[in-house]
Amino acid sequence: MARIVMKFGGTSVADLDRIHNVARHVKREVEAGNQVAVVVSAMAGKTNELVNWVQSMPKVTGAKASFYDAREYDAVVASGEQVTSGLLAIALQAMGVDARSWHGWQIPIKTDNVHGAARILDIDGTELIRRFETGQVAVIAGFQGVGPDNRIATLGRGGSDTSAVAIAAAVKADRCDIYTDVDGVYTTDPRIVPNARRMKKIAFEEMLEMASLGAKVLQVRSVELAMVHKVRTFVRSSFDDPDAPGMSDPLNPPGTLICDEEEIVEQEVVTGIAYAKDEAQISLRRVADRPGVSAAVFGPMAEAHINVDMIVQNISEDGSRTDMTFTVPSADVDKALQQLEKSRERIGFDVVQSETGLAKVSVIGIGMRSHAGVAATAFKALAEKSINIKAITTSEIKISILIDGAYAELAVRTLHSVYGLDKS
Ligand code: ADP
Ligand code: ASP
Ligand code: MG
Repeated sequence: MARIVMKFGGTSVADLDRIHNVARHVKREVEAGNQVAVVVSAMAGKTNELVNWVQSMPKVTGAKASFYDAREYDAVVASGEQVTSGLLAIALQAMGVDARSWHGWQIPIKTDNVHGAARILDIDGTELIRRFETGQVAVIAGFQGVGPDNRIATLGRGGSDTSAVAIAAAVKADRCDIYTDVDGVYTTDPRIVPNARRMKKIAFEEMLEMASLGAKVLQVRSVELAMVHKVRTFVRSSFDDPDAPGMSDPLNPPGTLICDEEEIVEQEVVTGIAYAKDEAQISLRRVADRPGVSAAVFGPMAEAHINVDMIVQNISEDGSRTDMTFTVPSADVDKALQQLEKSRERIGFDVVQSETGLAKVSVIGIGMRSHAGVAATAFKALAEKSINIKAITTSEIKISILIDGAYAELAVRTLHSVYGLDKS
């Protein structure tokens, strides 16, 4: 017998038939003698619809900007998961499985008060564990918890993955299975490169880079939690036949295991390629080259909660003026430009230029630590396709390249193939 957490994403619960199919997966694990908690997302498209509704409402106009109450945003967008948790509990009961639904506050899943992007602080697993022992399945609404203000807080887009891993850690589950619409983690997004290969295993650190650099198969925070709490996490498909042989294999269910580096015997130099679209570049021309300038530029960005990514600063030719370029999500460009204008005097620059519609393509692999020439291979391959590189950043295990968004898919396919990742 094992204790497992099963998470089902939006496509897996997109309609009543699929919810019924999910119930069959759950029933299989219960019949195999396991204690089960299930975490569900909202039906596919539902969260987007709820977010759009909130954004279409009239806003309060304040001194600096117009806004809506983030606590009410959370009250609205958390509802999608509440619907699916209730429906799945009903489907399970109809199959003769003892189950009940749980909202975040009922457990409780306690979060901080950053509404819309809250972090889980603590989960009290006592009641869940008590009920496991009676054989009851907990069907938990993902993506939500309760803040210190006693109001619903949501965990940021894709947050149900994080709910699942955090619950697995809290109840000391043997395994956390993330069921989605692909049968594991691939060397790159299989929707863009049909030739991508499914990995049997991927190291936490690589998965963390893949997720933070754009592979949306797992929310970044869920990978961090799995790594810290050593949760055995599998990514697998909800579209596999629930009753196929091997589906309840306790140690090795079908899918990709996210694990410690040491568990991977044959480590490739490059493991995967990730990409993120909708990046924008902002350049400040002829910025004063003196101490404190970076602080003057990026302080106001942080205050406005703008996530600055790549930063490139030229060496000053005459020792007094230089150019500075950085990237932000396209959605934040206007806000960033406003912040810069407000601080123009303090920073001291001639002109500011911006460009949206860019993409960041990244090459990831732990093996890069000990192999030279990985970056050069990428640059040469992109040059051969006449793709212009606008900025580059590197770390020990990744290289990120900023390019024109129109070439994103070509760049992903090119890099995927140049590092020998294509399925043979
Ligand atoms: P869910 O609704 O189940 O949470 P998501 O849409 O959030 O599912 O994540 C699954 C999607 O992630 C896949 O359909 C796939 O297109 C995308 N994806 C991006 N990169 C990868 C990758 N490297 N491996 C697998 N899937 C990936
Ligand atoms: N439903 C939420 C979203 O679409 C959370 C999730 O699916 O993980 O972002
Ligand atoms: Mg997701």
